[in-house]
Amino acid sequence: MRNKLAEVLIAKGIKNENVLNAVRKIPRHLFMDSSFEGHAYQDKAFPIAAEQTISQPYTVAFQTELLEIRPGQKILEIGTGSGYQTAVLLQLRAKVFTIERQLELFKKTSLFFKKMGYRPKKAIFGDGYKGLPEEAPFDGIIVTAGAPEVPKPLLAQLKIGGRLVIPVGIDEQVMTLFIRKSAKEFEKKELGSFRFVPLLENKN
Ligand code: SAH
Repeated sequence: MRNKLAEVLIAKGIKNENVLNAVRKIPRHLFMDSSFEGHAYQDKAFPIAAEQTISQPYTVAFQTELLEIRPGQKILEIGTGSGYQTAVLLQLRAKVFTIERQLELFKKTSLFFKKMGYRPKKAIFGDGYKGLPEEAPFDGIIVTAGAPEVPKPLLAQLKIGGRLVIPVGIDEQVMTLFIRKSAKEFEKKELGSFRFVPLLENKN
């Protein structure tokens, strides 16, 4: 079923073999509630706890491909959710830092990572709007929730040459790639529309 899912992603335009191999390898059904297991290898998003969703496999593959990860690179993920995207990043041998703002999901997914032997460098309960200044700069930052606007700290925490992949918009999001060209310059590319649960800012 995972091989078939990879074929679907190839048909939709995913080319990176490492990303496809991650999809072939990672047991997505284990990241979902048992009542949805039968759906796990369809190319669809599904509900998880705390009214959040596990992203559609195509979206995960598309965002991951845009990061152009090389082994050992430092990647920050905003929105751990089910942990599936985290597992894909780990499979590409990135050093992963991941942040989740829903306590229920943070606890559940942290336990699940331990059980499965997935080892992010850090899984953090907190507000990803602020990034993770103490671990910056990053080779890549991936935001897995829809951002009404691009959080400035995330741009500031990229290495020169680093890439930020972020869906931007309110009802619908435009997948946006920023590549840091120098201390002050960023190249920006807009790459199609997607739908995500909202990135929420902690106002307190
Ligand atoms: N990568 C996840 C996607 C989960 S949906 C997966 O594949 O399952 C997006 C997640 O972003 C949700 O779990 C939501 O709680 C989280 N989120 C929303 N705003 C956030 C913020 N400011 N900081 C960290 N996480 C946030």
